[in-house]
Amino acid sequence: MGGMTTDIKLIDEKGLRLDGRRPDEMRPLRIEAGVLKRADGSAYVEWGLNKVMAAVYGPRECHPRHLQNPERALVQCIYNMASFSVDDRKRPGPDRRSHEISKIIAEALTHVVFTEYFPRTSIDVYIEVLQANAGTRCAGLTAASVALADAGVPMRDLVASCAAGKVADTVVLDLGKEEDNFGQADIPVGFVPRTNEIVLLQMDGDLTNDEFTKGVNMAVGACKKVYEVQRDALKRRYSARAADEGVPGPAEEKREVA
Ligand code: UDP
Repeated sequence: MGGMTTDIKLIDEKGLRLDGRRPDEMRPLRIEAGVLKRADGSAYVEWGLNKVMAAVYGPRECHPRHLQNPERALVQCIYNMASFSVDDRKRPGPDRRSHEISKIIAEALTHVVFTEYFPRTSIDVYIEVLQANAGTRCAGLTAASVALADAGVPMRDLVASCAAGKVADTVVLDLGKEEDNFGQADIPVGFVPRTNEIVLLQMDGDLTNDEFTKGVNMAVGACKKVYEVQRDALKRRYSARAADEGVPGPAEEKREVA
């Protein structure tokens, strides 16, 4: 982002982007909840070429113990990018970037979890990026909040996330890899639809005030669509679980009432 130059035309004469998207178009998004048997909750997200897994454990006893809060649960997050997730093999293990992303995702999730219900405990969120193509922090946060809901952790609402940015002097939604590398700005946003709050906001690059406002509005609009995909994934999960346990799922319940 910012600084790298290229001969690639990021927006063509028809106003379309490298992958044929319009400026306000998001990459295809697919979410599946409850994909890991041994985690308390989990979710898998495919977003364009990004593939991200999230697993949740807890609330459980908080370790290390000096981090315990007698009044509330601590939401801890570890974001990790697999060595094979990017073109140039990534050196395994934590680095500055993964620490930063883990921190901002944990903070965003802390805003929606009813942490006061579970004093002294820890809710541990693990995000594994299996394939990366820009926007992995948004995909990770989106997956993590579905995994928390799948784990039955009480929350005010889900956090939905999407980025906007600027490429070739145009404000665009959901930057792809080349747009992230050679674009002018990137603004990842985490949004809570029910309370209308922004719980994650970062900016990389330069934007005018008007471009920033346009970008944030575009990202918030996209978060509302992401939210619907998250809810659908949880409804499918609930129906499948209910069918497994012989409990009437939402469809059958409605039929019974009618
Ligand atoms: N990336 C990479 N190697 C790294 C870190 C990042 O190739 O060690 C790529 C990866 O595709 C990532 C993109 O750069 O998705 C953008 O990274 P950024 O730090 O902007 O975070 P993201 O957009 O994934 O949230």
